[in-house]
Amino acid sequence: MRHFPIFVDTRDQKIVVSGAGECAVAKLRLLLKTEARVHVFGRDAHDVVQGWAQDGKVVYEDRVVTAGDLDGAILLYAANDEPEQDLSVATLGKAAGVKSLVVDNLEASDFITPAIVDRDPVTVAIGTEGAAPVLARKIKAEVEEMLPAGTGILARIGQGFRDAAEIIPQGPRRRAFWTSYYFDKGPKSLAKGKGAVEAALHYLLADHVNDGAAQGHVTFVGAGPGDPELLTLKARKALHEAAVVIHDGLVPPAILELARREAQIISVAKSAFGPSWRQEDINALLVEHGAADRVVRLKSGDGGTFGRLDEEIEALDANDIAFDIVPGVTAATAAAAAMGVSLTRRGRNSSIQFLTGRDLSGFAEHDWRRLAEPGAVAAIYMARASARFVQGRLMMHGASASMPVSAVFNAARPDQRIITATLNELPELLDGTDPAILFTGLATRAAKATLLKEVSHA
Ligand code: SAH
Repeated sequence: MRHFPIFVDTRDQKIVVSGAGECAVAKLRLLLKTEARVHVFGRDAHDVVQGWAQDGKVVYEDRVVTAGDLDGAILLYAANDEPEQDLSVATLGKAAGVKSLVVDNLEASDFITPAIVDRDPVTVAIGTEGAAPVLARKIKAEVEEMLPAGTGILARIGQGFRDAAEIIPQGPRRRAFWTSYYFDKGPKSLAKGKGAVEAALHYLLADHVNDGAAQGHVTFVGAGPGDPELLTLKARKALHEAAVVIHDGLVPPAILELARREAQIISVAKSAFGPSWRQEDINALLVEHGAADRVVRLKSGDGGTFGRLDEEIEALDANDIAFDIVPGVTAATAAAAAMGVSLTRRGRNSSIQFLTGRDLSGFAEHDWRRLAEPGAVAAIYMARASARFVQGRLMMHGASASMPVSAVFNAARPDQRIITATLNELPELLDGTDPAILFTGLATRAAKATLLKEVSHA
């Protein structure tokens, strides 16, 4: 960054413009927006400059600028429509220690004027170091569009209200107040005039001080395994009421469609390939929206099952944001249902374990001896990368090579797929990239018949 953008205070400062013609007029138009005293020197002043001089907007002298004229000036513009003359003016500036801009001469200039979007007091300066004026113009046009004409007025009125707003505690609640002002209540009342905007601010403040309406809330909703009909009634209701829906990658479009049309839908997919959301960023997003809005945090299956729910709750707690939890159908129960079997069975297994193949430290360790026993059943989430590890551990702890294992891919989705095999074949079982639940010790009924036959022959 060769040119560093700063905003210079011009109040009661002196700015000198050398030149009074066409080229100076362009610079003067900008300078007249400032609060500086603008002195113009040059022969044959343009009509516009003479007009400004008569109106007292600039001080004009019909002569060439001299060293003494630069006394106390903070900036100097060399805008004489005459490159040679501009350079000698710049030399005067150097000698006087005044920063100068030489029109159309980047090398001889100490500073450059950016493209400006003026919504005073909101000012956006765009610079490309002279490299790409076309780009600067395009960016300027887009920013102009982004900042409606009323932005400046809103900011001015808001500025006058900052002290009053201090009764709202600093942090998410204060931000929620200002967000509502700048993006909702302010723009809506602007058409009715400044008085209406001020009235809106007072109402809004009362609302936010009373802690009521504008306070946000987060509902953690278990979206189930994918079939919209497996949503709970509470989940549907929360989705319908949400202003913002923040969802995992595994939540299918058919469920997202149940949100209101005006709701803001944000995906925070964590993908092994391509861009992926970090948990800290998800937490921050949740806090940002949860402070002001009704948010549904939509997690696949049951939010409290391998869903990093606690971390998100802690972030909300730390920011005093209220939340509640709507449980969902977890992938393991949906997968068992798809297989047409139950997870527990009298005389076979009186317990069932939900495991993950991997944890923070890599492969996750479990009570393998118990899991290897005949009749033991486990549902393994995120099992793909650890299939070989699980197989090795079970065998090491005495599991039979013919122990049934099953995989249910895309449980409760149109492309659901179920396969049963033996522990021997486990690593080949988990092909592809579809989400899958792996069961050890569980077989489909059809497969069980064959497996049992094989086992009894063994
Ligand atoms: N909270 C989720 C689990 C999130 S961890 C739940 O309760 O279901 C992500 C893992 O869940 C996936 O790797 C996969 O093992 C499993 N999973 C999620 N949806 C699934 C589906 N429709 N079919 C099979 N497995 C699924």
